[in-house]
Amino acid sequence: MTNKQLPITIPYQLAITPYEKPFRQPLKTSYGEWKTRQGIIISLQDTAGNISYGEIAPLPQFGSETLEQALSFCSQFSQITETEIYEIPEQFPACQFAFESALERFSRTPIYQENLQLSCLLPAGKQALETWQSGWKQGQKTFKWKIGVFSQEDSWFEQLINQLPDDCQLRLDANGGLTFSQAEQWLQLADASGKVELIEQPLPPNQFQQMQELTVKYQTPIALDESVGTLRQLENCYQQGWRDIFVIKCAIAGSPRYLRQLCQHYKLDLIFSSVMETDVAREAALQLATELSSHRALGFGVNHWFTD
Ligand code: MG
Repeated sequence: MTNKQLPITIPYQLAITPYEKPFRQPLKTSYGEWKTRQGIIISLQDTAGNISYGEIAPLPQFGSETLEQALSFCSQFSQITETEIYEIPEQFPACQFAFESALERFSRTPIYQENLQLSCLLPAGKQALETWQSGWKQGQKTFKWKIGVFSQEDSWFEQLINQLPDDCQLRLDANGGLTFSQAEQWLQLADASGKVELIEQPLPPNQFQQMQELTVKYQTPIALDESVGTLRQLENCYQQGWRDIFVIKCAIAGSPRYLRQLCQHYKLDLIFSSVMETDVAREAALQLATELSSHRALGFGVNHWFTD
């Protein structure tokens, strides 16, 4: 038998399966309540019968396509080629991620993913004070707490900072929900605490310059998240001079190939983070995080938010 290379135009059979995954309790952020994660599992089957999976887990408030747009995009295809996958338009970043990662899974050797340092997502508000202990007992040292949700957060913050052991750190996430003066107050508290690793997206994406100002004025670093939902936006912010941290939600950011190129061209301080996807996208995102060797705790400490 000769070892002939298959031409890349041979299509894969595509199957799509929508899913719904309820949260154990609604996730409260400055956007409101989120009760159920909805997405689509795609499968590609090659001519030899091998099957590989990918996951479309959209998050339209971060600039991805909606679930409906992703479904109607997928429904154009019963078969899809590698070329067509690499040509998926940028307005479908969650589809780009799902299809490319399914394609890569055919040939990839999985990277060992145990013992990754995860950031444990706490419930918003006072509930965080009784919740961090269970993550800590499992060895987690980085905790993330949503801010800009309740009015008494500053006193709970002081309590939380006092409770957390010295080797732990806290990430604050405002989801773009603060005013400039609230952001300054939080940064003052954060600087004084000595235990805050960073504040995620204090101001909305249209206040980029103001966030730049805050990075100069305060010690606690700022991580852009909503501002950089897609890789194109991340590259734009880098080119406009952002040198603090970027949160990257692989499942909605777009093409993994493009992400690798960005990491080769620029020295990026990245936090790989979940969009509450299932294990299919989670595994692909953790592969990328491992390959691109991020030194920050991964924003994937979220399994306790689901019942299974
Ligand atoms: Mg965030």
